Amino acid sequence: LDDRRLAAVRQDFPLLQSGGGSLAYLDNAATTQKPTAVLDAIVDYYRHANSNVGRGYHRLGLAATELFEQARETVRAWIGAEHPDEIVFTSGTTAATNLVAETLGRRLVGAGDQIVVTAMEHNSNLLPWRRLCEQAGAELVVVPVNAAGVVETADFAAALGPRVRIAAFSHVSNVLGTVNPVREMIAAAHRHDVVTVVDGAQAVPHRPVDVRDLDADFYCFSGHKVYGPMGIGILYGRRELFATMGPYQVGGGTVKGVSFEEPVAYQPLPSRMEAGTPDVAGAIGLAAALRYVDGIGWDALRAHDADLVRGAVRELGRLDRVRIIGDPGLDPSGIVSFAVDGLHPYDVGGHLDQHEIAVRCGVHCASTFLDSLGLVGTVRVSFAAYNTWSEVERVIEALGTVRPGFWTTEQPTTRFL
Ligand code: PMP
Repeated sequence: LDDRRLAAVRQDFPLLQSGGGSLAYLDNAATTQKPTAVLDAIVDYYRHANSNVGRGYHRLGLAATELFEQARETVRAWIGAEHPDEIVFTSGTTAATNLVAETLGRRLVGAGDQIVVTAMEHNSNLLPWRRLCEQAGAELVVVPVNAAGVVETADFAAALGPRVRIAAFSHVSNVLGTVNPVREMIAAAHRHDVVTVVDGAQAVPHRPVDVRDLDADFYCFSGHKVYGPMGIGILYGRRELFATMGPYQVGGGTVKGVSFEEPVAYQPLPSRMEAGTPDVAGAIGLAAALRYVDGIGWDALRAHDADLVRGAVRELGRLDRVRIIGDPGLDPSGIVSFAVDGLHPYDVGGHLDQHEIAVRCGVHCASTFLDSLGLVGTVRVSFAAYNTWSEVERVIEALGTVRPGFWTTEQPTTRFL
């Protein structure tokens, strides 16, 4: 993004103008700020079209249903899914992984079976599988991550075998910003008839994703990390598989009709998986966010991301005591994670906050991964379309004056997850 375009993008985000005026917001992997187009879409919906969906036959209800289904269609096209009924709205990535574990997972996984995950998983794509294994008497198999912070297809393939039913893995690491060879991993899993669940939460904000090209069985992401609102997310599922799955939660919107005499007949997809009143405004806001991304364009976004990530890797690498974890410059995806020798990540984060720089520090909801790296945590800088090179320079400058603080000198007894 050239300077003029970047200035225009920044203008699109009210928080960067008002409350966050002097703040360098570099915590985008936790959640991104929202452009006016998204805020307006949400408010417009509530002002002009608010009504429940898929229920009553009055014109407002039909109009709201139409907008909700248009949002589904926008998501479908955006991730290259074949059918709109392969797109289920959830409250986020966490809800999506739990949905698959609790429906298909419960049916497929029995005593003595295995589920494969990787060492880098976020708790949201680890704990649903771990709990399922504990309850089913199955075994959780953990594939290692190499020194660059990437899962190697050969290591992943070595974990596959006749007892494996499901493999769940992230596309991009939320801790290191490194990218897994998911296309190859999915192909390897399919050679063993293993169902794949891809956590795309950190991938979709930074790269175009085509679920058919990847051949993913399930692919999940959260709206709020890709400029959309909180509380909405996507579970893509391949139709042949998804259609065999019973409902997750049951209730209004999931049934064709209920009597006390007959077995309950559930709706086809996607309604069967969307019990209760959905977050219609959230879905509409998410669709506006995806259109916003398209408006900037992937070429520009990818180039901007690569400039910031590679530049940050280069400049941070010049600082004494700073150690970049993994190799985020290999295939930049908006995240650079580092440790400062002799300093606790919370002390570094607190120091950066004093300089009005927002980063994430700690274990990033992936304490098992940080343990395997032998780290108490990292400092994570994460970018979005509106970030500038001068914000990276502010980080470099502030790191020049960081000193030991509370966490470095006191042995921490708790850590923030
Ligand atoms: N997976 C990854 C890789 C993530 O980065 C996150 C968010 N930190 C999640 C899952 C969970 O997303 P959510 O909290 O939106 O459900």
